[in-house]
Amino acid sequence: MKAEIMSIGTELLLGEIVDTNTPYLANQLSVLGIDLYFTSAVGDNSARLLGTLKQAWDRSDIVLTTGGLGPTQDDITRDVIATLLGEKMEVDPQLKQELVSFFARRGIEMPESNIRQATVIPSATALVNPQGTAPGWWVEKKGKIIVAMPGPPGEMHYMWENQVLPRLQQRTGAVILTRMIKTFGTSEAKVDEMLADLTPSPNPTLATYAKLDGIYIRIAAKAEKEVEARRMVDGREADVRAILGDIIWGIDDDTQESMAGRALIDKSLSVAVAESFTGGFLTQTLATAADNERYFKGGLIAATGEAKMALGLDPKLAKSEDKAEVARAMAVLARQKLDATVGIGIEGESGVEPESGMVPGTVYIATDSDKVDVHTVQSYSGRLYQMKRRAAYYALFDLVKLLKA
Ligand code: ATP
Repeated sequence: MKAEIMSIGTELLLGEIVDTNTPYLANQLSVLGIDLYFTSAVGDNSARLLGTLKQAWDRSDIVLTTGGLGPTQDDITRDVIATLLGEKMEVDPQLKQELVSFFARRGIEMPESNIRQATVIPSATALVNPQGTAPGWWVEKKGKIIVAMPGPPGEMHYMWENQVLPRLQQRTGAVILTRMIKTFGTSEAKVDEMLADLTPSPNPTLATYAKLDGIYIRIAAKAEKEVEARRMVDGREADVRAILGDIIWGIDDDTQESMAGRALIDKSLSVAVAESFTGGFLTQTLATAADNERYFKGGLIAATGEAKMALGLDPKLAKSEDKAEVARAMAVLARQKLDATVGIGIEGESGVEPESGMVPGTVYIATDSDKVDVHTVQSYSGRLYQMKRRAAYYALFDLVKLLKA
């Protein structure tokens, strides 16, 4: 079976978003043993999209598209598939009902334009999308397949795993299991290098993904029976753990905040934070974590020395140049003021390098409980937003390590 992937959306061509859907699907196809011959990115233009889709349809057995399924005029994937196959789009009453209910549950009337998302053609079966409003299409005609999936990666992954993969597995007679191993504190290039002996394996496969909360490694194994696929995934996870050790902080649905929360609850501890530099990212992450009311006491956020004094920090420390000391004092302040057993203080500095325009920074994270631990993080050059988010994740990663020690 020859496959082809098309990413649809003008933002991809303008460089506004990076296409992460294609590598994800490419990896999945390789595990399935389906040959991928072409990938392309196309803007929201009917004529060019039709031309590219026709070419794909003529030369491949299965075409996977992502994007362009939304309700607006520039979401044209459905229309172009219908034109290619010479079929008429009609509203499916059940899909329409599901959309109306989706909006009703949110207490809003469905905008008229959303009705486009309830259409199908005779060769298409709708793929439900519980994560959003855009259903996908599974189209089969003349022995060939087009699968149209939504653009947002979360929606696409869900649809792929729950509806597309099972259909394709039936055809290839294989079971595929995946597991995501999550690491923090080591660059993607370094993780790749460390896993170099394992990555050439065609089954199970390994693929790395850079996220704000660390580098993820996806293990995918294909076998005839589920038990065999599970055995392969377990075995490969053990290999990866033996190599990466304690930079691994979780798997699959684990988040850094859920791991920190679990560690605090297990030890009957509570945490409070005082943030400068990260502007509340750590507070926000903890405040939106499940069960946080069981361990999170609150966050104090200050940007200037005056604000730190207003929160109660000793004036000498509030204006101190010794950032590590400030971070430590903020950790103690948070713990005492908010009546927690563990305090985290974050302080940092950054500036633009005139020659490169990059933003290097140093972040100081202090954790205060019965012992105080200060870490200096030489931060990644790059965008300030990413640096600050990563600093907040670093604090959680450190906290878990400290609680487990
Ligand atoms: P919806 O309108 O329901 O959000 P859609 O299928 O119309 O879905 P698009 O409008 O094409 O999808 O894209 C929506 C968003 O999904 C984009 O702004 C982008 O954030 C993300 N996205 C789309 N395609 C890709 C891609 N190939 N890789 C990564 N992200 C993508």
